[in-house]
Amino acid sequence: MGNTVGIVGGGAAGMMAAITAARRGGKVTLFEGNDRLGKKLLSTGNGKCNLGNERLGAADYYTGRPDMLEAFLGRFGTADTVSFFRSIGLMTKSRGGYLYPACEQAAAVLDVLRYEVKAAGVEVVTDFKVEAIRRGRRARLFQVHGKGGVCWEHSFDRVILACGGKAAPKTGSDGSGYGLAGQMGHSLVPTVPALVQLRCREEYLKAVAGVRTEAQISVYCQGKRVAKERGELQLTEYGISGIPVFQLSRTVNYILAEGRNVLESHPSAGHRHFDSGNAPKKDVEIVIDFFPDVTGEEFKTLYRERMLLRGQRTVEEFFTGMLHKKLMLLFIKLAGLRPGEAAGQADERKLKRVFELCRSWTLHIIGSNSYDSAQVCAGGVPLEEVTGELESKLVPGLYFAGEILDVDGRCGGYNLQWAWCSGFIAGCQAAASFADKGN
Ligand SMILES: Cc1cc2nc3c(=O)[nH]c(=O)nc-3n(C[C@H](O)[C@H](O)[C@H](O)COP(=O)(O)OP(=O)(O)OC[C@H]3O[C@@H](n4cnc5c(N)ncnc54)[C@H](O)[C@@H]3O)c2cc1C
Repeated sequence: MGNTVGIVGGGAAGMMAAITAARRGGKVTLFEGNDRLGKKLLSTGNGKCNLGNERLGAADYYTGRPDMLEAFLGRFGTADTVSFFRSIGLMTKSRGGYLYPACEQAAAVLDVLRYEVKAAGVEVVTDFKVEAIRRGRRARLFQVHGKGGVCWEHSFDRVILACGGKAAPKTGSDGSGYGLAGQMGHSLVPTVPALVQLRCREEYLKAVAGVRTEAQISVYCQGKRVAKERGELQLTEYGISGIPVFQLSRTVNYILAEGRNVLESHPSAGHRHFDSGNAPKKDVEIVIDFFPDVTGEEFKTLYRERMLLRGQRTVEEFFTGMLHKKLMLLFIKLAGLRPGEAAGQADERKLKRVFELCRSWTLHIIGSNSYDSAQVCAGGVPLEEVTGELESKLVPGLYFAGEILDVDGRCGGYNLQWAWCSGFIAGCQAAASFADKGN
């Protein structure tokens, strides 16, 4: 048997796996459905590519098996990412722990990877959408079938699936990798869009679209707080956005999906779905606190002090200087007040209501934007179904890397770190296994 490795998907994880396997003696072919490698990388980090983070741990990710993830990250962590990129010519820099290319250009990250793919002798087959993978009975070779290219069928000793998930399908990751995994008997943790904007029921949000402000955002499900985040909130015509909202979006989407008993359709057999039985539809509320640093007592004092200012001011004048003007006007309206009415004669309960809205403004979440807008796809092939070397427990010789697995990280370079880490381990082991297994 030879030492051939076929890699499906030329994104971050696939390129890392290809370089690693080729450096270890594998004869590597990298298949990419697009006309070029790494299209998604170009849009990462707003074109600057946040490629890792100095603070790294399993707690920065969601997965069914944090213990396995911790072990993977221990084998290829942030320092390894920095030295790998340095070794292929990319200087990196830290901005408060967030790692970027020193030139702040995502294109440079892609370029050095492409150069190294070439230098390592990897055969790159672009415009080749892999549609099926089969395991031959006799030679135990994997046959990779696809559309495009000069040849529609290739055989390999080992295959690495690095097709990504469903996020940003325009960049090529359309979920077809899950189908390929399914053909090999693997299951799927149901997927939802993550690191994505949330949509709200409240139509009046149009009035405050464009406002950006610091806040603490809590997610409540059936009246119980299930998660909270802090950071710059962005209000949009249809809902809420910004990093803290992105961080909460996967939790919200899973709650909504389970409550609605959403089935995960899968092109192949043997896949799990949201097993919510007769679970009732779940309501998700977001409660926003615009004064997260102010204690309850301090806020009461602030209220008492401010009430002394009522004097000759209108309601609008009375609240000026507390919050963004657009928000203040909205809260005045929601409390049943008119901006022009005299604050001194206004109903005190209504004035108090405005103060309360500043601390706990409740919005009702009806969903999120689609995978088109999501940065990452939560769910995927469960880690239970792979070994500590990222090899399939069901089909020896088949490996997984990147977002196709049930691992998704927070904003901050964690998803690319996972792509580098898992690409390295899968590439290393796919090539090492030739020696280990005497092939
Ligand atoms: C707008 C945006 C910004 C982001 N910013 C950051 C950031 O700054 N930092 C960070 O850590 N993460 C960021 N991410 C997330 C990060 O880009 C991904 O988690 C990461 O790229 C996943 O790598 P991957 O190789 O597993 O999958 P992908 O990058 O999705 O690559 C998969 C590749 O496989 C190919 N493919 C799929 N199916 C097939 C098939 N059947 N046959 C052949 N080829 C196939 C696709 O065309 C694609 O090129 C961002 C994502 C988006 C969308």
